[in-house]
Amino acid sequence: MKQIQSVKGMEDLLPERAPAWQYVEASIAEVAERYGYREIRFPILEQTELFKRSIGEVTDIVEKEMYTFDDRNGLSLTLRPEGTASCVRAAEEHGLLYNQTQKLWYTGPMFRYEKPQKGRLRQFHQFGFEAFGMVGPDVDAELLIMLARLWRELGILDDVELQLNNLGTSDARARFRADLVMYLQERAEQLDEDSRRRLTTNPLRILDSKVPSTQDLLDGAPSLPDYLDDESIAHFAGLRRFLDAAGMSYIVNPRLVRGLDYYSNTVFEWVTTKLGAQGTVCAGGRYDGLVEQLGGKPTPAVGCAMGIERLVLLLETLEVIPGSINDAVDVYLVAVGDVQAQAIALAETLRTELPYLRLVTHMGGGSFKSQMKKADKSGAQFALILGEDEVALKQVGIKPLRTEAPQQQVEQAQAACAIKGLLNE
Ligand code: ATP
Ligand code: MG
Repeated sequence: MKQIQSVKGMEDLLPERAPAWQYVEASIAEVAERYGYREIRFPILEQTELFKRSIGEVTDIVEKEMYTFDDRNGLSLTLRPEGTASCVRAAEEHGLLYNQTQKLWYTGPMFRYEKPQKGRLRQFHQFGFEAFGMVGPDVDAELLIMLARLWRELGILDDVELQLNNLGTSDARARFRADLVMYLQERAEQLDEDSRRRLTTNPLRILDSKVPSTQDLLDGAPSLPDYLDDESIAHFAGLRRFLDAAGMSYIVNPRLVRGLDYYSNTVFEWVTTKLGAQGTVCAGGRYDGLVEQLGGKPTPAVGCAMGIERLVLLLETLEVIPGSINDAVDVYLVAVGDVQAQAIALAETLRTELPYLRLVTHMGGGSFKSQMKKADKSGAQFALILGEDEVALKQVGIKPLRTEAPQQQVEQAQAACAIKGLLNE
């Protein structure tokens, strides 16, 4: 019979790579907690309307990338393409934004119907941070400083660049958009096809075009900084002052726009050149209008999301995953003869005494030789050997598998102590 394959663009995480993922996820969560961000979890499915209203009807995500279907009752549901909308929905629904500030983080799978390629999947995973109720640039700065600390701890700070831009208010953007469209419409025949389509749907995204001729055309176009209002300018200057004081390096990229409609004022991306075309590992910005747009009271907010796949790829590419991170077991217990019951009991005693020990007990019997082969293949540092003689003497053999050191026999009561000593050597 033909085997069933996974859905295109949706990957399995195999045990071999799981430790790298666990390491990255644990590092991010730890840094988040150190800055007072607390975890929130929300469902993977939401009402489609939530994403339409927040991300924007004419964005790539909503127009062509969402996994949307009707449930059995005819209600339109969508697999979340990002976390911010759900986070706002959940926080608002449970009163977390009422007269208080909140710093929240989340993680989990996101779904977008995109063309799968390196660093771009249809099910991918994000970590997100959202700070609500704080209007000033201090919280924008702290978020960026926290991210820099995370990159430093992961060993990738030298390989990512922070790009910043000020998008201003939606009014300023609307005036700029009108002038930009007028300028580009007069030169539409010089635009690449994608950008020509965006002229009527999402013209700001043209600034982001990777096509050189389009970028050349933009050199003479109206420029967003000329349209900004005083308040946005002051916010951005404040942010830069805080970042400079903290010794952060960044570049201001006046053509940086994001693919989601809800951003205003600060937007940013952390970009690497080490992953080819999919170089943005983390992106975010201010979205002061979103909470109100989703039915809440006006609430300033800033946040970001990072792609775990790209981060793990970057760590693997740069070879900065600590050597201690691996999926090998420490000890493999070989049980020869009619000693299974004693083997299981000994293993439990050891697990109680050494909670961090990764111990595999051989199951299913077999010859000494075949069990030792399995012990070797498991990657264990030591084989524990339990036969009928050892059981009679209340002993166990400890045989190093990675060095030439000889096997030793120890009292079972001393086994935990001996293993601990050997593993720390
Ligand atoms: P890109 O320009 O790379 O498409 P985006 O603007 O769509 O990114 P966001 O929606 O802001 O990105 O998502 C934040 C981060 O999530 C990205 O910087 C990236 O690391 C990751 N990401 C986004 N889409 C995907 C995807 N399809 N596969 C893997 N990671 C993704
Ligand atoms: Mg995208």
